[in-house]
Amino acid sequence: MLALVDRWLALVAERVHAQADMLTRLDQAIGDGDHGANLDRGFTAVLALVRAGPPAGVGAQAASERLRAAGRSLISTVGGASGPLFGSALLRAASAVSAGADTSSTAELVVLGLEAAGDGVAALGKASTGEKTMLDALVPAAAGAREALQRDPVGEELLVEVVSAAARAAEDGAAATIPMLATKGRASYLGARSIGHQDPGATSAALIIRALADSVGT
Ligand code: ADP
Ligand code: MG
Repeated sequence: MLALVDRWLALVAERVHAQADMLTRLDQAIGDGDHGANLDRGFTAVLALVRAGPPAGVGAQAASERLRAAGRSLISTVGGASGPLFGSALLRAASAVSAGADTSSTAELVVLGLEAAGDGVAALGKASTGEKTMLDALVPAAAGAREALQRDPVGEELLVEVVSAAARAAEDGAAATIPMLATKGRASYLGARSIGHQDPGATSAALIIRALADSVGT
């Protein structure tokens, strides 16, 4: 599972770097225009960590350690709100993966991790879905993944189905933030003028989860 996590984090770093201008433009419309730079800085640090070599532990515990270190790295390198939020998402995912390591399949660990990530953001951001934040991508992603897991819990392509469902739901969720009124974060200062723009954090969350789907089986 560590190999999957490392492929994923490296792909996220690459795509966030390539899409930084797009993320910044979204944040210029309803925030302060730093979202692309924030995440680029954060995931550049995460990539350095991955390149420095494997963490302690074996199997899913090593994957958990990696997620924990990546979360800490985002929290310490990103100045904006998204650093601590995505960072705590990774820390919570790390704990969920560690707790389930001995009894769960990789597909189950991915679902548990996504659910925990959403819980972490909701707790730190004191937010829920419908407030035009990254949660509007993360929560549907976790729900879509859980549904795919339950539909066919022993399927051969289970992991592929789980991550594909998560990515689709995250992208639909990000698009669904366009008509929403922002009630959390900087975008909430705009009131009704936040309507009509896609949320930057929901967009990057969808990008991050799409990268997970694209890291499976490669
Ligand atoms: P900042 O808002 O500090 O400039 P970023 O621009 O990097 O930080 O991130 C903005 C994104 O963070 C928003 O698009 C939104 O998705 C997310 N966000 C902001 N506040 C909250 C919150 N309280 N709960 C959940 N997500 C939030
Ligand atoms: Mg910003």
